[in-house]
Amino acid sequence: MKTNIIKRFDKLGRIVIPKKMRDGMRMGPETDILISVSGNKIVLECAHNLCLLCGEAADKDSPWQLCEACVSEISQSKQPKE
Ligand SMILES: [Zn+2]
Repeated sequence: MKTNIIKRFDKLGRIVIPKKMRDGMRMGPETDILISVSGNKIVLECAHNLCLLCGEAADKDSPWQLCEACVSEISQSKQPKE
C-alpha cells in the first residue's frame, strides 16, 4: 500500500483519507477517531484500539479495552482513591 499521499484540505478543513488506508486500518464510516498532535504531526488513531482510561494503546489480548498499565493498576488497588 502506498503510504505517502499528498492531500489538500477543502474550505471547511476536511480531507478524505484514501479508502485503502481506511480499510487497512479497519476504519469504517462509524469509527471513532482520536485526533492528537505530536510535535509537528497530526495523528489519527482508531479509538477502539485505545485504552478507555488513559488513551494509550490497548492490550489486544485483553477482554477489556484497557492497556496493561491500567489493568495492573486496577488489579493492585484495593480501594478507590479519594
Ligand atoms: Zn490505560
